[in-house]
Amino acid sequence: MSSEKVSCLIIGSGPAGYTAAIYAARAGLNPVLYQGAQPGGQLTITTEVDNYPGYPDGITGPEMMINFEKQAKRFGTDIRYGMATEVDFTSYPHKVIIDNKHEITADSVIVSTGASAKWLGIEGEDRLNGRGVSACAVCDGFFFRGQDVVVVGAGDTAAEEASYLAKLCRKVYLLVRRDEMRASKIMQKRVEMLPNIEVLWNTETVKLNGEEGLESVLVKNNKTGEEQLLDVTGFFVAIGHKPNTDIFKGYLHMDETGYIQTVKGSSCTNIKGVFACGDAQDNVYRQAITAAGTGCMAALDAERFLMEREVKEIIEETTA
Ligand code: NDP
Repeated sequence: MSSEKVSCLIIGSGPAGYTAAIYAARAGLNPVLYQGAQPGGQLTITTEVDNYPGYPDGITGPEMMINFEKQAKRFGTDIRYGMATEVDFTSYPHKVIIDNKHEITADSVIVSTGASAKWLGIEGEDRLNGRGVSACAVCDGFFFRGQDVVVVGAGDTAAEEASYLAKLCRKVYLLVRRDEMRASKIMQKRVEMLPNIEVLWNTETVKLNGEEGLESVLVKNNKTGEEQLLDVTGFFVAIGHKPNTDIFKGYLHMDETGYIQTVKGSSCTNIKGVFACGDAQDNVYRQAITAAGTGCMAALDAERFLMEREVKEIIEETTA
């Protein structure tokens, strides 16, 4: 196995990782960033991004992430393809293995591995992704103004997405697989109060139809077996997200879903020199702008940590 030593290692290449890279590079930390399985992160699978400040005419998700990458490169970030496959945070400096074959010893590690939307895994879902199928109403809802759409799920996200879409769309079908919702009472109340949301209880999706774009959705009542074809152009999956944090289990404190816990008001984790930002630690906001903001925090926290360590070493050397 090959090995090297770096000052600041950034794992992940969404808005959080690239923003951390921009700040870390400008601070002279010579960051090395590994892009992970999906270079550019979740934004590369969305279409237009209209809610990121600074782009008055909007920008596509992939284009935006190319810009993030270019900006991080401009200040000297060493951007590489590769996945962190294993870590060891039991001793310092920290160890991270890339692609099972390259060992990096890092003075500071910024975790920006993001989260992935969960999908249903049904026919048509993959094929029509970005062409009617989405996992983010705030990102894509605008394209379905005045149209009929489906939201799948019964948690707070589904309730929130359905309520958001109800303001834009003509009709929203909310597909709930049981006879009750998991969402908080207040969110359920909000759904009930919106006249253009129709909740279909005990209902599951069978398949999505359409070639160039979504044309209809076949659903089935799991109590009666009755099938129904919904003529909709949008299909929003809101059945939860899974943070990409499996390799950090046993080292970093997490909640039961796997979101990394950080010290309030900072990006610090329970391990000194390891910082977390973006969707890997945020199950509430999950926006590109908030991810970028926490990426900035992580780089500033890493810089402070490295500086304090350096000062401590100098004091130890001079007093030895
Ligand atoms: P949750 O895990 O809470 O809910 C997921 C929902 O998706 C469940 O209702 C589940 O159904 C349903 N589901 C799962 N798999 C399938 C499937 N294959 N087919 C159909 N339905 C399925 O995820 P959320 O993203 O809603 O919320 C995550 C966390 O974030 C929660 O703690 C939530 O409270 C929080 N949150 C808070 C918000 C706020 O306070 N404003 C906004 C959004 C999220 P079932 O109930 O049958 O298991």
